Amino acid sequence: MDTIIDDISGSTRVYGILGYPVGHSFSPVLQNTLASKTGINLRYLAFPVAPQDLGAAIKGGFALGVQGFNVTVPHKQAVIPFLCGIDPLAEQIGAVNTLKRTESGYIGYNTDILGLERAFALQNVELAGKNLVVLGAGGAAHAAVVLAQRAGAKKLYLVNRTLSKAEALAERIQIPVEVLSYDDLYRLEAPDILIQTTSVGMGRPEESPVADAELFRRVQVAMDLIYAPWQTKFLKDAAAAGCKDINGFDMLIYQGIASFELWNEMEVAPEKAAALRNLLEEYYRKGR
Ligand code: NAP
Repeated sequence: MDTIIDDISGSTRVYGILGYPVGHSFSPVLQNTLASKTGINLRYLAFPVAPQDLGAAIKGGFALGVQGFNVTVPHKQAVIPFLCGIDPLAEQIGAVNTLKRTESGYIGYNTDILGLERAFALQNVELAGKNLVVLGAGGAAHAAVVLAQRAGAKKLYLVNRTLSKAEALAERIQIPVEVLSYDDLYRLEAPDILIQTTSVGMGRPEESPVADAELFRRVQVAMDLIYAPWQTKFLKDAAAAGCKDINGFDMLIYQGIASFELWNEMEVAPEKAAALRNLLEEYYRKGR
């Protein structure tokens, strides 16, 4: 009865994530824990925003003084017209996942690419000089492809159910690229790294976009951007064939840390980031 709640005050800054649906998002736990660990006075909430309401949500968020947003499915590309600017890397990717407030509106950034880069680096996986297969051609695939190019991959194979989308993605990159159907995929000689960016297997432990698991015998590293389930069928098949398997959890954590750093114009020390990552993994795997 006599408890005073004073950890939220008149100067607490508000941030949030825009998605639809967004109730499953891990970002509020991640961002509020980060704020608490770094002593920054902010709160971060999930805002379910239907596609037809996106423009109104951005305008309303700005009017209310919301300092920044993360943006997730299905808004990562659709939000761009409502921004006052876009960072060159996000523009190259063609998708944003982070909005930062300025006097004239929000500027869009892409920290998914930074999270993915970090996830590979933590596992000592080099993309330079490698033959990479990217499954999918959605927003996450765009980030993966630009990362591959930036890191100096030798060749990219883009595989997608809707071939026209993979073809459009291929147009955006300058390194050697080939668009393949899933049938062609199984005929590939020896791709070094497979990056699974489709939503197949998300929440469905029995589903994988790779129907012929023999493929993994010719691959060294398999990365799945999905982290729920923790080990997808794609990753189970890859591990069983002797591949190094990496799930999407590190990408999730490090894209979030990169957004937090951008908003607060500070750097989270690597040891602090690693400790937070381990704490969040423990929490996440206990079932939240
Ligand atoms: P998106 O833009 O909606 O793209 C979805 C992709 O999945 C498309 O290429 C789509 O192919 C493909 N797909 C969907 N259903 C399929 C099916 N039944 N068979 C074959 N392909 C299918 O989504 P996104 O933003 O790229 O996200 C994709 C996944 O990455 C999601 O699971 C998301 O959670 C994950 N992700 C993780 C992180 C992280 O931090 N770990 C960050 C971003 C995204 P079509 O083009 O043929 O429809």
